[in-house]
Amino acid sequence: METLTKKPWFDQYPAEIPTSIEYEEMTLQGYLKRAANEFPTKSALHFMGTEMSYKELYEASLKLANQLRTIGVEQGDRVAIMLANTPQAVISYYGALFAGAIVVQTNPLYVEREIEHQMTDSGAKVMICLDLVYPRVAKVKDKTPLKHIIVTGIKDYLPFPKNVIYPFIQKKNTGIKVDLTYTDTLLSFTALLEKGSKEEIPLSIDPKQDLALLQYTGGTTGPAKGVMLTHYNLVVNTQQCEEWMYKMKHGEEVIIAALPFFHVYGMTTVMNLAIRMAFKMIIIPKFDPKAILKSIEKHKATLYPGAPTMYIGLLNHPDIQKHDLSSIKACISGSAPLPVEVQSRFETATKGSLVEGYGLTETSPVAIANFIWGRRKQGSIGVPWPDTDVTILSAEAGEEAEPNEVGEIMIKGPQVMKGYWNQPEATQASFRGDWFLTGDMGYMDEEGFFYIVDRKKDMIIAGGFNIYPREVEEVLYEYDSVQEVCVIGVPDPYRGETVKAFIVPKEGQSINESDLDEYCRKHLAAFKVPKFYEFRDELPKTMVGKILRRVLVEEEKKKRENT
Ligand code: AMP
Repeated sequence: METLTKKPWFDQYPAEIPTSIEYEEMTLQGYLKRAANEFPTKSALHFMGTEMSYKELYEASLKLANQLRTIGVEQGDRVAIMLANTPQAVISYYGALFAGAIVVQTNPLYVEREIEHQMTDSGAKVMICLDLVYPRVAKVKDKTPLKHIIVTGIKDYLPFPKNVIYPFIQKKNTGIKVDLTYTDTLLSFTALLEKGSKEEIPLSIDPKQDLALLQYTGGTTGPAKGVMLTHYNLVVNTQQCEEWMYKMKHGEEVIIAALPFFHVYGMTTVMNLAIRMAFKMIIIPKFDPKAILKSIEKHKATLYPGAPTMYIGLLNHPDIQKHDLSSIKACISGSAPLPVEVQSRFETATKGSLVEGYGLTETSPVAIANFIWGRRKQGSIGVPWPDTDVTILSAEAGEEAEPNEVGEIMIKGPQVMKGYWNQPEATQASFRGDWFLTGDMGYMDEEGFFYIVDRKKDMIIAGGFNIYPREVEEVLYEYDSVQEVCVIGVPDPYRGETVKAFIVPKEGQSINESDLDEYCRKHLAAFKVPKFYEFRDELPKTMVGKILRRVLVEEEKKKRENT
């Protein structure tokens, strides 16, 4: 299946969008250097009342890069970043890249077990993290290759007195008191930046071969895998994004940066795009609908990329009518299905265009989207991006499916990953020739629009976060009185899906739900903790004893239809 026989989507392209693009062979950090040259005084970011220009951002990143070199980071070393959206997250990302390092994005909600796996697997030497998460990192550091930890406080870049407690920290009060004594291996982010040099470090990077990022994504077969994305993969996807948004102008737009930068979706469609096109980013550290409504109005924001729950969150906020949202021009929703009703209500509220797109970590991430100014079909994820081939693998024939026939979605294009880090077998299993197998089931209509119908893998998507049942099950299996467990996703009005665990206790033993819940909270990031537990005497199984997840999903569906 080397050549595609059907590419009807090209007929749908508006004249303004090329079907093929000449990509720049450059590094990602080259974007920041260029923006700092072309728009030195323009504001690159706004964060809780403070601003930073492109020149300042560029210089801060260079300073960090030089300090990373001083503590032994060499080209190709991994540097982990475990930060909420803050100026420090942007500086750390570009700083690590200017040092020639490979960035390993780490979700700040991760608990010790998850941090340990990611640091050990990636071999990260340095971690840059928030003071609030430091205690978790410190507990596992000695079991990982981490040599240095650089700590920063959310407030480090705010122009207010340090003893002020900011509303979002107050709300999220974790009770953790972080009292740090800096040493040779535990370093202060702000102190490093005070003394760093602004010289650019000479690097020899081949954008097509060298990695910019190891982005961890869960697997159906075992723990999270590191997706290897090259500079070229990410430069390509950012450039494709620019072409798709052809009405957006360099140096003029204002983008709401509420999608987390540690997820590939926020990283490419917000941070990399903003830096490439010298937009101003309004950085929102935690999804807070009120803060976003206010920011759109105050900064006359033109772009608000998000996951469906982020649009639902704004639409359901009681203050939505009080704010002028008419500056919004374009939004691409991704990571989960966008309900049609949400799309039309949001477009009425903003007068802008909200379209659905689709992608995966392995495709940098965007591969398919509806046209923002052009044709779109409700319920469809859209058409393939420039230079991106998409086809459906027919389950029956093992070849390219006919239009409207459901099969696995396969993707080929310059944004497709190099492979999984240190996992040649998993890499091989996820490709058929140079087609990447997405694990998503869907079909294409006669006009080249694609639709998702199911997920081959059992992944649950809650509020835009991916949860792999197997990972939750593994934690539950470690609980003393648990004999058998099966975790599924159930519909949730706000998060799209949420986690439900079916549990069979060991014979003669009973399980206290709140003790089990407390245990899960200790061992899993909050978004992965089951919302519902159901205790049973047995679980449905196949003849060979494999738990029938599908049966539980169906039972749950029926139960919900009857209530
Ligand atoms: P991630 O690697 O975290 O970006 O997750 C990728 C997965 O998200 C895909 O394999 C899909 O299952 C799901 N996904 C992304 N976009 C959509 C969408 N528009 N509709 C439904 N599922 C989606």
